[in-house]
Amino acid sequence: MSYSRVGVVTGANKGIGLAIVRQLALQYPKSPLNAGPFLIYLTARDQSRGEAAVNELHNDAQLKQAKALKADGGPSEIKYHQLDITDRKSLQAFADHLKQTHEDGIDLVVNNAGIALDGFDAKLVKTTLDCNYYNTLEASHAFIPLLKSQGRLVNMASIAGLLSKYSDEVRDRFRASKTEADVTRIMEDFTSAVEAGKEKEAGFPSAAYSVSKAGLIGATRAIARAEKEKGSKILVNSCCPGYVNTGMTKGNGPKTPDQGAEMPVKLALHDINGETGTFWSEGQVKEW
Ligand code: NDP
Repeated sequence: MSYSRVGVVTGANKGIGLAIVRQLALQYPKSPLNAGPFLIYLTARDQSRGEAAVNELHNDAQLKQAKALKADGGPSEIKYHQLDITDRKSLQAFADHLKQTHEDGIDLVVNNAGIALDGFDAKLVKTTLDCNYYNTLEASHAFIPLLKSQGRLVNMASIAGLLSKYSDEVRDRFRASKTEADVTRIMEDFTSAVEAGKEKEAGFPSAAYSVSKAGLIGATRAIARAEKEKGSKILVNSCCPGYVNTGMTKGNGPKTPDQGAEMPVKLALHDINGETGTFWSEGQVKEW
């Protein structure tokens, strides 16, 4: 079976990631990307959780009623593929699979996988930055060469990554950062300051998750800039889904996962006026 469109969602076995896959299937027929069969890879680090999520969507009443999936006569198909973004071999194996299976390339990627851990110390900062910053960027670099010329990459950041809680100096460094390496140097300085127990004095909040997402917003902007300079037409953006009721928020947050999926799905599937390198929240570009 060959597909006209191919999409990838990371960390999609639950929460907002699962809702993104569902909304991609529901909204695809009415989107500007609509052009024949659409394969969506629901990826997860754990096979049983990933396959259970695919089964859940295959039995989803709303998808059935909308005839969204192939089994019910619709254009979309959802398949599980293993992907742990912090495992280099897993990322390479998935990228190889995409390259071999979809010679024309893929259309969209939502880097949704992320973690938020309780507490604050050097070990937790390392684990958080590894997943939310370094390996989300590794995944971005693995996927970008596979994107078609007009493809889209969406990185799930957060308004927790806005810059209100930093010293003027650190905020200015974030805003002046032009390359991914510039942003990574800020992440390294944060890590060193935490190890020395001096992150506040160095102008950072004592908050691993927020800093990881600030870095992701900055690095996404830098990647988009580098792509533009190469003449590439892919669109690379980051966004916040809003405050969403999921495992991560321990059942708090006013938005449902489907509502949280709205922003990333808009950036992946709908008309965004060619915007690239921007951070989005509540349907709009947000100053960072
Ligand atoms: P959940 O904790 O409900 O889901 C996170 C998903 O990421 C799970 O599928 C989890 O898999 C997966 N994941 C974690 N680590 C990895 C990894 N190394 N490789 C692959 N997958 C991984 O969180 P949400 O759905 O709430 O969050 C989704 C994204 O949205 C995150 O990036 C989060 O930071 C962001 N966000 C969420 C907000 C909210 O209010 N919920 C607000 C702002 C941003 P597993 O089940 O195996 O753990």
